[in-house]
Amino acid sequence: MAFVHYRTRGFIFKKNDRFEADRFFSIFTCDFGRNEVVGKAIRKITSKLRAGIELFYLSEIEFIQGKAYKTLTDTVVLKKFEDIGKNLEKLKTAFKISKVLDNFLRFEEKDKRIWDLIVETFSLLDNKRLTETTRLSLLFHYFLWNFFSILGYQPELFRCAICQKKLTFDDLYFSAEDGGIICSVCTKSKKEVEKVNSDAVKILRIILKRDWQILSRLKIEPVSQKLLKNISESYYSNLLKENLKIGKIKVRDL
Ligand SMILES: [Zn+2]
Repeated sequence: MAFVHYRTRGFIFKKNDRFEADRFFSIFTCDFGRNEVVGKAIRKITSKLRAGIELFYLSEIEFIQGKAYKTLTDTVVLKKFEDIGKNLEKLKTAFKISKVLDNFLRFEEKDKRIWDLIVETFSLLDNKRLTETTRLSLLFHYFLWNFFSILGYQPELFRCAICQKKLTFDDLYFSAEDGGIICSVCTKSKKEVEKVNSDAVKILRIILKRDWQILSRLKIEPVSQKLLKNISESYYSNLLKENLKIGKIKVRDL
């Protein structure tokens, strides 16, 4: 029986070893969205596939669709992002991003915008001059909020997400449940809100303008960094919960 061979570019965001020498890869492909593909006997030293595919590689892959799963038939490395593996903080950032992808990417849903964001983020992460922990954290947040925005979860940052009143710089609270910034009047019935400053809101607005050049030059106070981290975490965990409830994603480790 002749199999159809599919060829595409993909970013490898997860791998799992199975059986004696097989390896399963979770790949976000340019043409077919998320795919799980097995590399048969790929961990054997003689495997012709192993040089072309590895975690956090951009690879050209070819696979066939079997009954149970897709099997790799060819791999060509396009970009290794080598600087990421040389720096522990970068590696941690890469794993954090791959976790987000694993939690939110649905199977076989092609999305050029997500593809572009992944390639852009990893190219930035691979930049040798980017080493500071605070900048790496900012890059993670740059990825995270733009990723959520593409998925349709852009936060409200200009008007109160509840009463729609125009926001003033000294009256800003973040409510993940309500999808953005709310005013003090609307915090009354709320348990989980965080008072934020205008800098944190401005940073978020710049992040969503998707301009890393401007963002990377900003001087950010530690208090605003902390706020950005807190609101990102609460937004992320709230979206995970919401998606689980409506069954959009499966339970993975939260
Ligand atoms: Zn309000």
